Amino acid sequence: MNCLLSVNAIEVVYKRAIRALHGVSLGIDEGRIVAILGANGAGKTTLLRAISGFIGLDAARISAGSIVFDGVRLENRLPHQIAALGVAIVPERDKVFPKLTVAENLAVPVSRLQAPERRRMTEAVYAHFPALAGRRDSLAGLLSGGERQMLAIGAKLVCGPRLLLIDELSLGLSPRIVQELSAQLRRIRQDLRLTVLLVEQNAAVALALADAAYVLENGAIALQGDRASMLDNPMIRELYLGGGTRRRNYRDARTERLARSHGAPAPDTAGAAAQVTRGPSHG
Ligand code: ATP
Repeated sequence: MNCLLSVNAIEVVYKRAIRALHGVSLGIDEGRIVAILGANGAGKTTLLRAISGFIGLDAARISAGSIVFDGVRLENRLPHQIAALGVAIVPERDKVFPKLTVAENLAVPVSRLQAPERRRMTEAVYAHFPALAGRRDSLAGLLSGGERQMLAIGAKLVCGPRLLLIDELSLGLSPRIVQELSAQLRRIRQDLRLTVLLVEQNAAVALALADAAYVLENGAIALQGDRASMLDNPMIRELYLGGGTRRRNYRDARTERLARSHGAPAPDTAGAAAQVTRGPSHG
């Protein structure tokens, strides 16, 4: 498979003082969904903002290492240049324009296109998210959390990206909506051959959806592996799936069942994962 994105030993420093990422490396093959797990403050958002170029707006910089997207170096490019290469980011906050309608939110990113092309792109988004089609004239600020997330994703898809970065897919959403969104993302990946890198605090959600995952701890990659090996890994189960007393993130029984319905082993039969490795690989 073609490695679409590779992050090579990057260091990120905020305000010349706070080192947020230390030697982070990861690789994502085209058409894969890869999750970044980690506790609050681990550096997940920083990583996505470094890839998408927004790190400069936070008074931060990549002080070492490289980021290569489809053979092109990204680390010294501006956000709009990176977006033009086909990298889109759905941020954790301020995802949509609340005072514009759904249709207007989808029209803004493609306003430079000719009307027929614009229509074709927006109708493709409505086809992937039928809930939005029925609410085209509603103000985005009046949408439910799930619909708002769909609109935020749709407003990126409308430009036809090759790599979609999503910061906190499930935050604040009900398990039912998360399940629906996950199914939609799987279909979109299939239909558009989209590559997705998502940041997620809920490991059960992430591992139900992703082909592979990385765990960030204190700004460094602590663990990585494919979905099955991550779900089998005692550390993941202890710290991220709520299997032990040292639980860091909340456990949602329904979303964990969702993960298991996608092929994960039952907790009491899973052994230690042989495939979980440390260091970079192509997910
Ligand atoms: P969360 O899950 O809480 O969003 P995260 O894993 O996304 O956390 P980051 O937001 O990337 O973590 O933060 C990583 C580190 O960088 C933290 O120590 C944080 O305090 C620091 N940091 C993040 N943004 C800034 C900023 N604008 N200025 C200074 N330090 C920052």
